[in-house]
Amino acid sequence: MKRIGVLTSGGDSPGMNAAIRAVVRKAIYHNVEVYGIYQGYAGLISGQIKKLEIGSVGDIIHRGGTMLYTARCKEFKTEEGRKQGMEQLEKLGIEGLVVIGGDGSYRGAQKLTELGFPCVGVPGTIDNDIPGTDFTIGFDTALNTVIDAIDKIRDTATSHERTYVIEVMGRHAGDLALWAGLAGGAETILIPEEDHDMNEVCAKLNRGHDRGKKHSIIVVAEGVGSGVEIGKKIQDATNFETRVSVLGHIQRGGSPTATDRVLASRLGAKAVELLLEGKGGRVVGIQQNQLVDHDIMEILDRKHTIDEKMYNLAQELSI
Ligand code: ADP
Repeated sequence: MKRIGVLTSGGDSPGMNAAIRAVVRKAIYHNVEVYGIYQGYAGLISGQIKKLEIGSVGDIIHRGGTMLYTARCKEFKTEEGRKQGMEQLEKLGIEGLVVIGGDGSYRGAQKLTELGFPCVGVPGTIDNDIPGTDFTIGFDTALNTVIDAIDKIRDTATSHERTYVIEVMGRHAGDLALWAGLAGGAETILIPEEDHDMNEVCAKLNRGHDRGKKHSIIVVAEGVGSGVEIGKKIQDATNFETRVSVLGHIQRGGSPTATDRVLASRLGAKAVELLLEGKGGRVVGIQQNQLVDHDIMEILDRKHTIDEKMYNLAQELSI
């Protein structure tokens, strides 16, 4: 393989730039040319493709977002769209592609692989919802952003003796809420993977209040539902002064943590290694601190799960 492409797709996550940098530098190190495809699959179809040099990825390792931009592209879900994308790749003599993104982006990569074009997926999402990897690029940064917010909200919660509901992102996955809840010392963590009973949530708040607790923090994953509605239910049922903070898109931005930069560098380089070995239809990941790769279809068929033991621990520590 003498020429490969790289794109970022779907929701952005901090560390995508570090992954792009690793792909470009690793490939050039092995005398392989790299082409950057801008705006995800949309740019693949329309041919927004430029050759990247060593210097093209200078000064980006510490930046959030993605220098290649990202997009959601309905057209790529059609055969016609993918055919156009393939033509662009063939026109430039690109022989393999690294796709950095979430499971939606993986589906696009899988479809290209089915057409005989080798693709390797790199997990880039703050949601940590991709099977086959313990962590996705951006999760650690988002987690630290959430913790920073919880710590600040806790100051106000304490001063005003209030109950705070904090809604965090994660789409259908509860990882961000679970980790943030545990690290932020939340009284209650609501995640989509585990059932909850609002009566029990309120009873716990009451027990805490009777014990003399002045404030409470409840972390709600967006996959559970609206934090605002949950806050209202709590206020109605307990009469405790309740406020809601929906953290929103601040969780997606910011300079990646060292952990995310290192992870992105390792995974980006690993993706190039696989392509150079002639392997396509794979995704890379990290499991027990070892780099791994899996068949893309197998990963797409698998369901994301949370760490039950961690959930139970969070329950035990927030009695
Ligand atoms: P993420 O990668 O963050 O999960 P999306 O689910 O929005 O984000 O997917 C990103 C893009 O991947 C979509 O806009 C589309 O271009 C492409 N994609 C998603 N699903 C498919 C599919 N089934 N076939 C082809 N392309 C897909």
